[in-house]
Amino acid sequence: MNERLPSRHVVLLGIGHTNAHILRRYAMQGIEDTALTCISNFNVATYSGMMPAVLAGQVPQAKMNIDLVRLCASAGARLITEAVTGLDPSARKIIFQHRPPMPYDVLSIGIGSTAASDHIDLTSEHVVQIKPMQTFLHRLQQTLQNLRQRFADRTLKIAVVGSGAAGVEIACCLPAFLEQNWKGNFDLSVVTRSKQILANSNPATQRLALNELRRRSISTFTSTSIKSIQPETLTTEDGTEIPADLVIWSTGAAAPQLLSQLDLETDDRGFLLTLPTLQSTTHPHVFAVGDSGTMQKSPTPKAGVYAVRQGPVLWENLQRALDGTPLVKYRPQRSFLQLLNTGDGSAIGQWRGMSKSSRWLMRLKTLIDSKFMKMYEPIQMADDEPMQCRGCGCKVGAGLLNSALPSAGDIQFDDAAEVGKTLDYKIVASTDFFTSPFMDPYLTGRVAALHAASDIVASGATPKHALSNVVVPEGPAGPQQSTLCELLAGAKREFDAMGAAIVGGHTIEGPRLEIGFTVIGNALGDSLLEKQNLKAGDGLYITKPLGIGVLLAAHMRGRCSADHYSLLVAAMLERQHKYAELAVNSGVTAGTDITGFGLAGHLLEMLDASHVGATLQLNHVPRLGGATDAIAAGIQSSLAPSNRLAVAQVEASKTIRQDTCFDLLFDPQTCGGLLLGMSDENADKIQPSVRGIQLRPLVKIGTVDSIAAGSRPLKIV
Ligand SMILES: Cc1cc2nc3c(=O)[nH]c(=O)nc-3n(C[C@H](O)[C@H](O)[C@H](O)COP(=O)(O)OP(=O)(O)OC[C@H]3O[C@@H](n4cnc5c(N)ncnc54)[C@H](O)[C@@H]3O)c2cc1C
Repeated sequence: MNERLPSRHVVLLGIGHTNAHILRRYAMQGIEDTALTCISNFNVATYSGMMPAVLAGQVPQAKMNIDLVRLCASAGARLITEAVTGLDPSARKIIFQHRPPMPYDVLSIGIGSTAASDHIDLTSEHVVQIKPMQTFLHRLQQTLQNLRQRFADRTLKIAVVGSGAAGVEIACCLPAFLEQNWKGNFDLSVVTRSKQILANSNPATQRLALNELRRRSISTFTSTSIKSIQPETLTTEDGTEIPADLVIWSTGAAAPQLLSQLDLETDDRGFLLTLPTLQSTTHPHVFAVGDSGTMQKSPTPKAGVYAVRQGPVLWENLQRALDGTPLVKYRPQRSFLQLLNTGDGSAIGQWRGMSKSSRWLMRLKTLIDSKFMKMYEPIQMADDEPMQCRGCGCKVGAGLLNSALPSAGDIQFDDAAEVGKTLDYKIVASTDFFTSPFMDPYLTGRVAALHAASDIVASGATPKHALSNVVVPEGPAGPQQSTLCELLAGAKREFDAMGAAIVGGHTIEGPRLEIGFTVIGNALGDSLLEKQNLKAGDGLYITKPLGIGVLLAAHMRGRCSADHYSLLVAAMLERQHKYAELAVNSGVTAGTDITGFGLAGHLLEMLDASHVGATLQLNHVPRLGGATDAIAAGIQSSLAPSNRLAVAQVEASKTIRQDTCFDLLFDPQTCGGLLLGMSDENADKIQPSVRGIQLRPLVKIGTVDSIAAGSRPLKIV
């Protein structure tokens, strides 16, 4: 299937309540000839309406998260989690900290708001800010843990600063959280500079909320402005001291710092000024939505309900802006149903002039919130749809190579071949390429560089030069240019880190994005690390967990969760060249990299070349989070079945063969770890250096044995 590059590009910066709507609609129906990129500071987005229920323990945390990795994968959209530092709105480019500027046709900015700090230093470790909400509960838990050491034997004093809807809900729902996470006595207070709590609500709603706080013995300090925060105390403008061992900061909305760096017109609070069409007042190709935008003539409160209602208007206007047709106006609703979770199964509701507190309202809130979250569940690819894996998963099986190579004539095939020698060093060369496993060319470039250098690194040589081979999908010149630029910039980042330079290459047009490198490296003296020198008694060590292939396969099906995707990408991007340097200098007897044929396939190659056998302890084999679950769910890389043919050379009991981890031994790895043979004493010598350069510790997974004639070389126990 040809994957032509679309000619138009929509970018969403911040996937909050409005921009998430665009992602969902794009997943459902796409926009013709248009690519979608989502930039987010986390790979999940949180739904604030659900957060108090999670705090109160009424629903699990996953219920408030929108999994952007899965949603983007199923939508065919690209997700980027790198920091944006600026914007060139005239050139229509987004500026990143690390990657090249990204061109867009239209951009929608919805990075929300932060809690106003009022110039108070909030960096103390006993202050927990509500934003970013993705980490709020974790930070709160950590802070309570730290405070436990100091305040275990007395009542913990907690101040929630801010008395808007968020502050009141947090105060009401916190006791349930503390019962689980503090388990001691505590005193709660709400501190606000407003004259009343819920200053923007009806007096009747304020009274109901005040009653709820009183019922829980939560004291309130109104008309109280905080001047500074000290350990155990808040000092107010009039000098009063309020005891506070823990401060939860949940004040009104302030503009995030980034908005001031975008060269767009802002209101006097720093939010982006927009027209009723949600376009920036100064740059019509930029939209500002949710809390981040302020409509110039009719500003609305910074509340999720407005952000949600902007979604359909933005969806329409993004397409109209691309097509150059007149845009529609967003007309804010005059009033909205406000529902506050009080943490005890009830909610306070306000609709126009009416206010009420009841359990029925909480049921209504749960219904509304659950319905909202259901819309953001990723669309799943049918399991019976054929899928060709990418990355190393698109490599041909060992069987094909073994049958084709002998007939090809006298050709020597090595992972990294020695191609020359000087007085000081040997020159080694290797090549590798694959179909891009990611939507993001920059990430693909990084992974391709590390993967192509892997054979050189595993041979103990230092990569010095690289030549690229790229297939860029057909399409307009602009998107082709930016794809190639990102691809090579990503690769350059990794080659730079290894001390190697990209010195040339070749690029052609083709059906889909493919990239590879021929890498040339130097190995000092006779220090090349080879597969064939394993000795009986050596320990077998690996440097990365297994599961990259199956998680990539899950990702392609939109079934790799945000958490597991983070682990996957982090493992792939772990650089191995320092490991290899340590290995050659520390008496490692043999080594290879674990790539397409999986751990079992590559180990069997080493055993065959060394005329030895080995025993692996299955439960010592490290695995990536989510990998065995994916296998249990029936997911596998397309190369796994041919890799599994190697099972004929494996001795294992029925129980071991039925273990999902057994399948991981045949999982193809892209940017996999190194497999090293060495004595246990040498491994012990390497570990401190490994820790010194912050690499994952070596993991011993088995031992090399002598092999009896007729027996299978690899035993798994
Ligand atoms: C506890 C709590 C409860 C609330 N309850 C309600 C309620 O019941 N009803 C209601 O109407 N309002 C409620 N609000 C207010 C509501 O959360 C906000 O008004 C709403 O989230 C605004 O939506 P948004 O899309 O503008 O921003 P957000 O929902 O905050 O989304 C912004 C997104 O951008 C991301 N982001 C931030 N910075 C960057 C960056 N530099 N680069 C990339 N991505 C970035 C964030 O991680 C986030 O995913 C509540 C707020 C809180 C704190």
